[in-house]
Amino acid sequence: MKKIIMLGAPGAGKGTQAKQIAERYHIPHISTGDIFRANLKNGTELGKKAKEYMDQGLLVPDDLTCDIVMDRIRQEDCKDGFVLDGFPRTIPQAEALTEALDKINQKMDVAIDVAVPDESIVERMSGRRACLTCGATYHIVSIPTKAEGICDKCGNAVVLRDDDKPETVQKRLSVYHEQTQPLIDYYKKQNILQTVDGTQPMEEVFKAVTEILEQ
Ligand code: ADP
Ligand code: ADP
Ligand code: ZN
Repeated sequence: MKKIIMLGAPGAGKGTQAKQIAERYHIPHISTGDIFRANLKNGTELGKKAKEYMDQGLLVPDDLTCDIVMDRIRQEDCKDGFVLDGFPRTIPQAEALTEALDKINQKMDVAIDVAVPDESIVERMSGRRACLTCGATYHIVSIPTKAEGICDKCGNAVVLRDDDKPETVQKRLSVYHEQTQPLIDYYKKQNILQTVDGTQPMEEVFKAVTEILEQ
């Protein structure tokens, strides 16, 4: 089972798990959030457009988002599988993905919902520190950097993302409930939904994820 979707609220730990899955199974980690942030950093048109939405805690429009993902999954390194993190986030995105794969006689193997209640999400996001250079993510309490404020992997600064500030977090959570949570039913109907308890320590969550992937 190597075509994987990570579902879950913002801050649930999708990215943290997706990175480990990618490493363990040697498949690409495709994060739409990372792709938008890389574009923003490089000052591309896409980056500028995406930022308008991201800063408000809103979703980037489906047409912009879908094109990027479809191009990415058609690349050679995705032929043995990939892990999608932060995509799909709306029913139209999920339908576009199903259709694109259908055309090449493929389908997603599993959608893993990393379940974390809203109460814990605010704490997760306010404590998240991200390296905007290499994309590594930490948490000031649960997953701290070795040296304060410095990325373990590349030595650059780690920061609180603009959209992880409390005012934006609430908005992102309500957007999640309205637009993304319906995907849980969508993948339940496709018979590929699995759920893990995302409130456990990172290593325990990963153990539950690998059990699903290797069953
Ligand atoms: P998190 O990991 O906290 O859920 P992401 O890095 O996945 O955050 O996404 C950050 C922002 O990028 C989102 O709030 C949204 O504005 C935009 N974004 C990322 N993925 C998508 C997507 N699939 N559709 C629309 N917008 C997206
Ligand atoms: P997402 O990609 O779903 O938005 P992240 O993987 O970026 O979420 O995780 C959100 C924050 O929570 C980060 O600061 C991360 O270091 C931390 N985190 C991730 N998994 C766990 C866990 N199992 N327990 C505690 N903190 C976690
Ligand atoms: Zn780094």
